[in-house]
Amino acid sequence: MWNSPKVGILGGGQLGRMLVESANRLNIQANVLDVDNSPAKQISSHDGHVTGSFKEPDAVRKLAETCDVITAEIEHVDTYALEEVASKVRVEPSWQAIRTIQNKFNQKEHLRKYGIPMAEHRELVNNTPEELAQIGEQLGYPMMLKSKTMAYDGRGNFRVNSKEDIPEALEALKDRPLYSEKWAYFKMELAVMVIKTKDDVLSYPTVETVQEDSICKLVYAPARNVSDAINQQAQALARKAVSAFEGKGAFGVEMFLLEDNSLMLCELASRIHNSGHWTIEGCALSQFDSHIRAILDLPIPPKSLELLQPSIMLNIIGGATPDSHLKATQAALAIPNASIHLYSKGAAKPGRKMGHVTVTGATMHEAETMIQPLVDVVDTMRA
Ligand code: ATP
Ligand code: MG
Ligand code: MG
Repeated sequence: MWNSPKVGILGGGQLGRMLVESANRLNIQANVLDVDNSPAKQISSHDGHVTGSFKEPDAVRKLAETCDVITAEIEHVDTYALEEVASKVRVEPSWQAIRTIQNKFNQKEHLRKYGIPMAEHRELVNNTPEELAQIGEQLGYPMMLKSKTMAYDGRGNFRVNSKEDIPEALEALKDRPLYSEKWAYFKMELAVMVIKTKDDVLSYPTVETVQEDSICKLVYAPARNVSDAINQQAQALARKAVSAFEGKGAFGVEMFLLEDNSLMLCELASRIHNSGHWTIEGCALSQFDSHIRAILDLPIPPKSLELLQPSIMLNIIGGATPDSHLKATQAALAIPNASIHLYSKGAAKPGRKMGHVTVTGATMHEAETMIQPLVDVVDTMRA
């Protein structure tokens, strides 16, 4: 038996909350660093939580004193504080991995050395219109201007359709470190959750993700109409990319499947990920269960990461009204095989992830048919 290890989690949003759900089932105490009453703290009553931010060194130091291993539900944390506490407490994945990955440009420079295919890109040094216009000539239009740091849910991306869009793009992402990416003409987006353990690199099945306005809307597990060969390539790419980083735990790998059936990395996350929420119902061990086990060196039977049944996950995203997520929930309640996960974030704000629903079926077609009424409701509520 293990000696009741305590896990410290930087961040108490929905990902932290679902990690706590997994920790709770193993009687593992999870100490969360975030504001009081954050979604993860709400379902975990003990005096080990820390109030503050994962960007404050003092708060990270305080959390380190309370636990045996520290992990993060988000990559935008103070990695200098993590580096400091790493001499006293285990940090998983490593602070080096989180530091490289949290800057998308550095992440890509690092992965390039390992031969991971990705969209051609250029760094901006001065963020001037002239500089971006020159990059536009090299990469062509449209191109995706991206913030190197603090990017999530597409907040940090701006599609530049032509030279005329440059002033608006620079205004939208002003005061942020930037790079620009060649447009990826993908026919589908794929993702693979990878679990790095002390001596293995395991992975969940390849899924198809659908983004709307750069934010994840739907995930199909397994990916629909994808050949075995592409599936194997996606698995290999994801494992190779994650192997380029030190540390244990879950990593989310997002990819583009291009018209010529080649694959390109979109980005990698050093944490549990939205594209893996379906694993809660779709597999014997969820990505959250596996993350907790990986960072504590507990066994993960690879068979437990296999698909049990086709699954579709739909995000419930804040719409035009503060109660939009509740209307979506109302519709989900009537759907067979629908598992509803609300994150308890209070009132909805446009674009904010408020919850998700996973529908499983004996076949993908059955799951698609069952979830369609809910997709229709969500589509009418968009902000
Ligand atoms: P996440 O919430 O996954 O962290 P993010 O804000 O970091 O997202 P990206 O994953 O880089 O942003 O991009 C979000 C989405 O924008 C992608 O899933 C894809 O749909 C689109 N996108 C990103 N880069 C490109 C590109 N070079 N060409 C075309 N579309 C792109
Ligand atoms: Mg991202
Ligand atoms: Mg992404």
